[in-house]
Amino acid sequence: MEMIERLLKRIDKKPAVVKDEPFKVLVAALISARTNDNITEKVMKKLFKEVKDLDDLLEIDEERLSSLLYPVGFYRNKAKLLKKLAKVLKERYNGKIPDNLEDLLSLPGVGRKTANLVLTLAFDKDGIAVDTHVHRITNRWEIVDTETPEETEMVLRKKLDRKYWKVINHILVVFGREICGVKPKCSICYKEIKELCPYYKKLLHFEHIIDKFKYKKVSKSKIPNEKGSYILKIKLKKGRLIRFGKNEKYFKSGYYFYVGSAMNGLKNRIERHLKNEKKMFWHIDYLLNYGKIEEIYITNNNVECETANEFIKAFDYIEGFGCSDCSCKSHLFYMKL
Ligand code: SF4
Repeated sequence: MEMIERLLKRIDKKPAVVKDEPFKVLVAALISARTNDNITEKVMKKLFKEVKDLDDLLEIDEERLSSLLYPVGFYRNKAKLLKKLAKVLKERYNGKIPDNLEDLLSLPGVGRKTANLVLTLAFDKDGIAVDTHVHRITNRWEIVDTETPEETEMVLRKKLDRKYWKVINHILVVFGREICGVKPKCSICYKEIKELCPYYKKLLHFEHIIDKFKYKKVSKSKIPNEKGSYILKIKLKKGRLIRFGKNEKYFKSGYYFYVGSAMNGLKNRIERHLKNEKKMFWHIDYLLNYGKIEEIYITNNNVECETANEFIKAFDYIEGFGCSDCSCKSHLFYMKL
């Protein structure tokens, strides 16, 4: 938990929404789903001028509510949901927002992230609100090894010291928005975080491989017809069970690096990997049925196995992907998204 401790020294742990406003916390969390933060913030300001409490929400006409919610994503559905929520709160909870996880989760549209946000921000109770930032960063930092935010929450509940529960969402959301987003800005990341980050270590090692064997990045449409070795960086958005040859394995979501060589010409070989129609000739074709090639690196050197042996020093390898005429453990390597 050293990285969290270090980040706490950099980021103000005070969350944006203040305590004692369960109605606003709940509504804001529901509105923010699938909407960018700036839009959510603007809409919340506009909305809370007119809808200050549950009675206002019960009163307001659904059409008017929709227009106040515009342009948040799915604003019409969200208006409908908020009206339904107001009714349930009035009828079942006498107009009060519940202060326990079970009751919060029974409310329309309320999932674990929202329920935990309400508990921590509005009631100052223990909870771990896991959104995409918390899920992504704790995976990159190898605190968890999970596929969904729900799984991440469950693992964090076991692993994370209780003193971090209430603050982890806020600090990782701020850090995720500014630095460690979908495309991490490692070049501007804090030195003391970078030096411990397992993800960054892998990125550095990948750069080392590229330099050592003189790989260059090429675009999909401009692959030269030279002989040599290649690396495909493949993105698998969703984890899934994939059969390859006679084997079957669960492939986690993330990046896969496949190392190959084509001494008869890189163009033909790589274009075969890029084709939508897969002939299921190589094991990698089974993964490529679901994963997308994002980047291609080539070198004129015959260094397929040497490259694989460098990858294995820092990356997890996938069994069953060694080439037939070498003793490498694998030519396929994994890294988190
Ligand atoms: S070094 Fe990169 S991956 Fe690691 S925490 Fe910083 S931004 Fe994220």
